[in-house]
Amino acid sequence: MIEIRNYIDGAWRSSAETFTVLNPANRGQLARVAQATADDVDAAVVAADAAFQSWRRTTPFERAELLRGIADIVDRREGELALAVTREMGKTLAESSGEVQKLARAFRFYAEEAVRIMGEIVPNETLDVTSLVSYEPVGVVAAITPWNYPLELIGWKLCAALAAGATIVVKPSEYSTASAASLFECLEEAGVPAGVANLVYGRGIGPQLVAHPLVGKIAFTGSTQTGNRIARSVHHAIPLSMELGGSCPMIVTEHADVAKAAAGAARRGFRNAGQICIAVNRIYVHRSRYEEFLALLAAAVDELRVGDGAQQNVDMGPLANEEGQRKARAHVDDAVALGARVLTAERRVPDTGYFVAPTVLADCTPEMLVMREETFGPIVGVAPVDSLDEAIGLANRRDSGLAAYAYTENLRETHRLSALLDYGNVAINNPDPGIMNAPYGGRKGSGFGSEHGSEGLHGYLQIKHTRIHHGASGA
Ligand code: NAD
Repeated sequence: MIEIRNYIDGAWRSSAETFTVLNPANRGQLARVAQATADDVDAAVVAADAAFQSWRRTTPFERAELLRGIADIVDRREGELALAVTREMGKTLAESSGEVQKLARAFRFYAEEAVRIMGEIVPNETLDVTSLVSYEPVGVVAAITPWNYPLELIGWKLCAALAAGATIVVKPSEYSTASAASLFECLEEAGVPAGVANLVYGRGIGPQLVAHPLVGKIAFTGSTQTGNRIARSVHHAIPLSMELGGSCPMIVTEHADVAKAAAGAARRGFRNAGQICIAVNRIYVHRSRYEEFLALLAAAVDELRVGDGAQQNVDMGPLANEEGQRKARAHVDDAVALGARVLTAERRVPDTGYFVAPTVLADCTPEMLVMREETFGPIVGVAPVDSLDEAIGLANRRDSGLAAYAYTENLRETHRLSALLDYGNVAINNPDPGIMNAPYGGRKGSGFGSEHGSEGLHGYLQIKHTRIHHGASGA
């Protein structure tokens, strides 16, 4: 069992109280983690605030150099970081390695962005006055993150905040602790100054962190329920970004390449065992292509090999925790009780950990949980529709606004889908809506604010207008 400590003001700190992290593949004890006290949380924010005074005065070129240095260390430690992710939350080693590689790319991307924070000179009514619009860092960022992409979801906030000249206190999920500690070791090795990036662990410390009076921005990724709770609890007006959950729809029209659509659904429905905020949860297929689509999707899902993600030849690991396993199974039971057909072959999954059989459910109706709620597991519900507009009507919902997918080879349908799907990210004829240099964020019940792209950086900057009377018109 490894010991994991908080990282505050450039030092690793133990705590009298600890909590234990289990490996979801076998329920074995993985780590004993120091539970931060109220004093630790306060010390982390105070250290970040003190460090901000000098960090904000570094040049973007210095910050960019540091970010590139971190990227190199992350690359070098890829195997160790990936294993930490797999052990604590279950995804396969191949997926974990992919996550680490994307994390390193994020550091390099924001190293480039750091030196492109440009302002503007705005015209005034007289030449004796000049208006400068400039961007300044927000101060101390409180970053609260979930376990499903434990490195990337810290990384996007950390890279952008540091590039902007802000400082940060990260509170990762209680389920994903070792990977965060390894990432902070990379920061320490790269020479990030004390206090610029801090890490605190623990159950129940989130509310204290987000309410701390020295915090200048809250960057949250997690469930809609927790996001709403945080939004209600904030006592003073500060910037927030809320990357929340939501059940993501896919539409397969009568003009779709059905093989491509089934492959896309298999990838985006079952990767990371469906524990992705942009996972395909519910699929609406034109009745004329319905059985063809179902057969292809079920066949692709039946081929997935389920097992411990740390082993070779495994496509899907366990769910990260018991609650996730219970919810996914409840969604299947509910759908079957209400008349859905299970299309995937019955199979035994290991009972050592929190495994769930990947399942495709057909003939789903809107009242079924799988069509109403985010499952966050390897379960996909499919329903037939009679028209494109019926599908769009079912796909658009007030509580869901993160990502929507559609497959069609028809140009008119493509543009109608692009225009009418009320989502922050729409992917047509591909299952990958998130790329590093385009803004990524939700709307409606899935939150607000962007990560990725230059918009992701601007989330950590605040605008300033300086109006200077210099009398230099010569008049
Ligand atoms: P969660 O909401 O249970 O927890 C997220 C984080 O919030 C954890 O660190 C948790 O300790 C902390 N937290 C809990 N209560 C808090 C409070 N009152 N104040 C402050 N912090 C608090 O979510 P989870 O189970 O870890 O993650 C899964 C959810 O995250 C899913 O709903 C998924 O869709 C969502 N998610 C969204 C995105 C996105 O980009 N939109 C990305 C990944 C995951």
